[in-house]
Amino acid sequence: MSDACVLCGHGEARWELTGRDRLYHTTARAFDVVACGGCGLLRLSPRPLEAELPQYYPQQYWFSGDRSLAGRLEESFRRLLIRDHARFVQRAYRNAGATGPMLDAGCGGGLLAGVLRARGVPAMGLDSSADAVKLAWHRHRVPALQGDLRQAPFAPRSLALLSMFHVVEHLLDPVGYLRAAHALLRDNGRLVVQAPNADCLQFRVLRARWSGIDIPRHVQNFRRADLQRLLSSAGFEITRTKHFSWRDNPAGLATSLWPSLEPVARRVRQLDRGGASRLFKDAAYLALVLASVPFTVLEAALGRGSTVMVEARKIA
Ligand SMILES: [Zn+2]
Repeated sequence: MSDACVLCGHGEARWELTGRDRLYHTTARAFDVVACGGCGLLRLSPRPLEAELPQYYPQQYWFSGDRSLAGRLEESFRRLLIRDHARFVQRAYRNAGATGPMLDAGCGGGLLAGVLRARGVPAMGLDSSADAVKLAWHRHRVPALQGDLRQAPFAPRSLALLSMFHVVEHLLDPVGYLRAAHALLRDNGRLVVQAPNADCLQFRVLRARWSGIDIPRHVQNFRRADLQRLLSSAGFEITRTKHFSWRDNPAGLATSLWPSLEPVARRVRQLDRGGASRLFKDAAYLALVLASVPFTVLEAALGRGSTVMVEARKIA
């Protein structure tokens, strides 16, 4: 595949920064992030090959559903924080007519889809990871499939709503992916997308240390305007935008400041020495997350929040 911009096709780019996998340490390699000379979209350079991507996703990426005290506390906390997302999706589902199936593409361990089902939204899950979809079914009773949206076994125009939380920035071909979403949605169907916002104040200050850039897993890093162009090129019109989420914004800043304290990173890198150490680090991480709230609320209020969540309507 050529190294041209996925949004405007421009081949030239300027260097922005160089960084490494600060979170999971899957590789010691340094990667460049460049800005498209045509539209400014940030992308990893050179563009990784499809076959190269899996090695950057650690095996223990998914919450294993362990029943230890720390495991149960972490899950309760995540359940509390996901309510923001659930409410946003629920409202989009009402806007889509409140009937028919919805699919959470990139469902991970199925927490969100499970919470939505408990609220009466008939959510299903799809994920590229077999471990993730197993967990979604066994832990949260979410009907979930392993696969790619572009080959998903659903009839065209059969879905009322599709959600994608932290998916588009990981894709080599986000436009093709969103066109597949467009084909699966019925008329007036809704798409909910959330991604880190490369226009945020954190990125200006922290650059390669901003956790939202997540080198090398983020192939593209969208600003709010880039996301808007991406959606309109695939046949969607944004109807609602939100810049703050309790799950992502404060935790994102905490992870930027101290990546080795982040719970998944600790599990992946095996940094905890027993249950007490894990509980202590969980408490320290929680304190850092809470300390991050004022700044992240402020940047979101200025329209420069570190994530952007949108509801988009399918247009012809
Ligand atoms: Zn471009």
